[in-house]
Amino acid sequence: MPPAITMSDESSVEVAVPKAGAVVGAATDPHLADENPFEEMMARFDAAAELLDLDPGIYQVLRHPERQIIISVPIQRDDGAVEVFTGYRVVHNTARGPGKGGIRFDLMVTLDEVKALAAWMTWKCAVVNIPFGGAKGGVVCDPPNLSDTELERVTRRYTATLINTIGPESDIPAPDVNTNERVMAWIMDTYAMHKRSASQGVVTGKPIELGGSLGRREATGRGCMIVTREALKHLGLPLRGSKVAVQGFGNVGSIAAKLMEQEGMTVVAVSDASGAIYNPHGVYIDDAIQYCRDHRFLRGYPMGEEISNQELMALDVDVLVPAAVENTITRRNAGDIKAKIICEGANGPTTAKADRILNDKGVFIIPDILANAGGVTVSYFEWVQNRSGYFWDEETVVERLGANLVKAFGDVLDVAQRHSVSMRTAAYMLSVERVAAVHRIRGMYA
Ligand code: GLU
Repeated sequence: MPPAITMSDESSVEVAVPKAGAVVGAATDPHLADENPFEEMMARFDAAAELLDLDPGIYQVLRHPERQIIISVPIQRDDGAVEVFTGYRVVHNTARGPGKGGIRFDLMVTLDEVKALAAWMTWKCAVVNIPFGGAKGGVVCDPPNLSDTELERVTRRYTATLINTIGPESDIPAPDVNTNERVMAWIMDTYAMHKRSASQGVVTGKPIELGGSLGRREATGRGCMIVTREALKHLGLPLRGSKVAVQGFGNVGSIAAKLMEQEGMTVVAVSDASGAIYNPHGVYIDDAIQYCRDHRFLRGYPMGEEISNQELMALDVDVLVPAAVENTITRRNAGDIKAKIICEGANGPTTAKADRILNDKGVFIIPDILANAGGVTVSYFEWVQNRSGYFWDEETVVERLGANLVKAFGDVLDVAQRHSVSMRTAAYMLSVERVAAVHRIRGMYA
């Protein structure tokens, strides 16, 4: 049976990456169980709050998500049996605008993870200065074991149960791990049926025919390429011929690899959960994507040497792009990393302990909330187009995305240089201060 749905962050390239976490993530490594994603996020937030000397009241507000919803999602399986899944939607903060963030379908989804991801969305939207707050959702399920019709029922039931939470002015979902344009279409349709209005702006990452934006599918990977280009420029390193290794070959990793290749970089290794492929002369990315479409996984791809995911992480490259799941760079493998630049395509790939090791080694990390913000930036463009009813051509989307990310990179670099802190701490300082400023202006409603 073909995969019911592709596995990857915002999967829309038909590339299956099953259970990336099962191979390289902390979820299956009991020794890393202390690296709870919410605490990991909070450790970074706390560091920024201290440096900013954040008002204790605002600190308390930002430490607590505005809303945490746990729902049951009962559906009838194709064989008639009833199964009840657990779903979450967390809205972390809406000071700057409606909650914004994806929905993931995965067996590893937990409330703590969704809370962390929701807060990351708040900081991400603030770093790139778009008028959204942060939210995230998830359903604990195993998409490869659900048929298309079962997935549709899960999606519609989840949406219907959250009908009074989501909305174009309140909380706007988008694709994330294991969800794609088709899932977004079901969300929009369910919302439209309940509300009796064809409200396109309720969800982003939709099919183009339904009000999706040109360039949205490639936006996260394109953003990775843009900020990597800026980082190379800043470090005085050449773009052409610089070596890249990309971990994760879903929508983010495969598109980032392809666009970096187009820029003249040499992508010497790519990987998915089945393993990694190394070719010192460069993996031909279109060919590898096609191989994945045909075979579901990279394993067995003949145009390179098979290596492990951990070997990929330790390659002597200029740029490493972790684009799979959380906690793939930990205190166990951070010491082996030789890359000069890490571009965090995934959310939360580097643990706080690994961060310290990498900072000591002088690795230039482009943090997730900047590196993968291209996706939500074009989600914002999509929402703007939906609200105005006027659609932009792809060139306009690409140009505005580039301008926005180059500006955000410069803003973060400026804070990093002025305060002598890492790019991550700078990104948090910039975003926490932007959110705090709005809280100060709005005041406390009680
Ligand atoms: N899931 C993506 C992210 O983590 C996109 C979110 C969005 O477009 O709202 O940034």
